[in-house]
Amino acid sequence: MPRDFLKGVEDQYDVVVIGSGLGGMTSANILGRAGHRVLLLEQHYKLGGLATWFLRPGGHVFDISLHGFPHGMIKSCRRYWNRDIADRIVQLKNIRFDNPQFSLTTTFNREDFTRLLTTDFGIAPDKVNDFFDTARGMNFYDDQATTTRQLFDRFFPGRDDVVRLLMEPITYANGSTLEDPAITYGIVFSNFMNKGVFIYEGGTDDLVARMKKELQANGVDIRINCGVDRIHVQDGKVSAVETHGRRIGCRAVVSNANLRTTILKMIGPEKLDRDYVDQTEAVRLNNSSTQVYMALKPGEEIDESSGDLFFTSTAEEFRTDLLLSRDITSRTFSFYYPRTRPGKKERFAIVSSTNANWSDWADLNEHDYEASKKDLVETTIDALEKYIPGVRNKIDRAEAATPRTFNHYTQHEMGASFGTKFEGLGVSRALPQQVGGMYHAGSVGIIMSGWLGAINYGVIVSNEVDQQLTSESQHT
Ligand SMILES: Cc1cc2nc3c(=O)[nH]c(=O)nc-3n(C[C@H](O)[C@H](O)[C@H](O)COP(=O)(O)OP(=O)(O)OC[C@H]3O[C@@H](n4cnc5c(N)ncnc54)[C@H](O)[C@@H]3O)c2cc1C
Repeated sequence: MPRDFLKGVEDQYDVVVIGSGLGGMTSANILGRAGHRVLLLEQHYKLGGLATWFLRPGGHVFDISLHGFPHGMIKSCRRYWNRDIADRIVQLKNIRFDNPQFSLTTTFNREDFTRLLTTDFGIAPDKVNDFFDTARGMNFYDDQATTTRQLFDRFFPGRDDVVRLLMEPITYANGSTLEDPAITYGIVFSNFMNKGVFIYEGGTDDLVARMKKELQANGVDIRINCGVDRIHVQDGKVSAVETHGRRIGCRAVVSNANLRTTILKMIGPEKLDRDYVDQTEAVRLNNSSTQVYMALKPGEEIDESSGDLFFTSTAEEFRTDLLLSRDITSRTFSFYYPRTRPGKKERFAIVSSTNANWSDWADLNEHDYEASKKDLVETTIDALEKYIPGVRNKIDRAEAATPRTFNHYTQHEMGASFGTKFEGLGVSRALPQQVGGMYHAGSVGIIMSGWLGAINYGVIVSNEVDQQLTSESQHT
C-alpha cells in the first residue's frame, strides 16, 4: 500500500503554507510561533526548496545554492529563526575575479571596493562615494524607470571594466541585467556591499535540519511529498487546498511556489480579474543556471589561496547575454574547504555555476542532453585546470545540473533560479486583493530572491497573514 503522507493531518488549519523554500519555511515559522495552526506542504521529499544539497558515495556533500549571501542574514535568522542558526553565519573573505580586463582579490565590502576603484581603476574618490551613497539610498518606492545601465552611465561613462566589477557578481547572484530597473541593482548591491559576503558554516543540510527542528518546536505540521494541485476559493476567499485528492480547509494560504504557477494553475484564471490575469501572464521569469559539482578524492586538498568565491570569465567585455550563453565564457567557482562542515569528514568540493537559458536545454533528446551535460563537466574541469593545475587527477566525482534539474526538483517554470523579473513583485503583492486570504511569498522581482530576499519576503507576508487572522479572531 502506498505510504499515506497525510496520515493524522487535520481537516482545518488557520493557514496552509505551500512550499518549503526559505520564504515558505520562514512564514510558517513566524505564524506557528505566533500561535496559529499551520500546515506546511512540500511536494519534494526534502525541505529547503532551492536551499538544498545532495549526498554522493565517498562522504561527499554538495550544496546547490550556498555560495554567498549578505550580512543581513544574521539579523533575519536571529529574529525569525534562532540564535543557534544566526551564530553559524560566517564571512567569506577571499573573493577573486579573473577576466581579460582585470584580476583581483577583494573582501567585497564598501571599504575594499573604494580602495580598488580609486587605486586600481583610477576613479576619483568623490565619484565612488557618490555612487555608493546613491546605490545605498535606493528603495522600492524610488523611480523604477531608470535602468542599471543608465545608473552606470551616469557615474562611470565608458568604463566597461568598472561596470564589470560592480555588476558581474550581482548578475550572478540574481540574474539581473543592465536593462533591469536600477533599484533592483542598487538594493541588492548595497545589501552585499554593506559588509561583504557570508555563508552558513555547517552546510545547507545542517541549516535545514535546524530550521525543521524550530518549525516543529513552534507546532508547525510539516508534510513532505505533498504537492498542492488546487487552491479552492469560495465567495472571493480561500477556503481549502487540495493535495493527494484531499481537501484541507484553511482561512489563509501562503504560496511559496512559483508565482505564475500559483496564480494561473493552482488558483485558476477564472477566479481572478481579467486585468490581473493579463498582468500575471506578462510576468517574465528570471533565468536559470547550470552547475558542475566536483568532489576531491579523500586525502586530496586545494590550497585556501584558491579563494572562496571566484568569478572567472574569458569574455573580452562584460555583456549579460554572454553570461547566459550556452557557449560558456563565465564560470563562478565556489570552493568548499573542510571548514564548511566542521566536525564532519574532511572533504574538499568545488561547484562551478553559470547562468543559463531554459531554451538551450529544454528540448534536447535524452542522448543529446546526457552528451551536453558530459561536455559541460569536461569543459568546466578544463577551465579549472587553468587555475589549479592537476585538479583533474584529484577529482573523485563530477556531475552537472541544468535548468531541467532545477525545474524537476522545485517545479519552477523554466527552472528559474531567482523567481521572476521585477514586474512579478507587484503581481505577488496584489494577490490578497484578488482572493481574500491568499498570499504569495516566494522569489519575485529580483529584490525578493536569494536566501536573504526570500526569508525577508516570508517575514513581510507572514506579518500580513498574522494581522488578517488576528483581526478575524477578534471579530468572531
Ligand atoms: C544554482 C543556484 C545557485 C544559487 N545561489 C545562491 C546564493 O549563493 N545565494 C543566495 O542568496 N541565493 C542563491 N540562489 C537563489 C536562492 O537559492 C533562492 O532565491 C531561494 O532559495 C528561493 O527561496 P524561495 O523561498 O523563493 O523558494 P524556493 O527555494 O523556490 O522553493 C519553493 C518550494 O515550493 C515547493 N513547491 C513548488 N510547487 C509546489 C506545490 N504545488 N506544492 C507543494 N510544494 C511546492 C518546491 O518544491 C520548493 O521546495 C541560487 C539558486 C540557484 C538555482
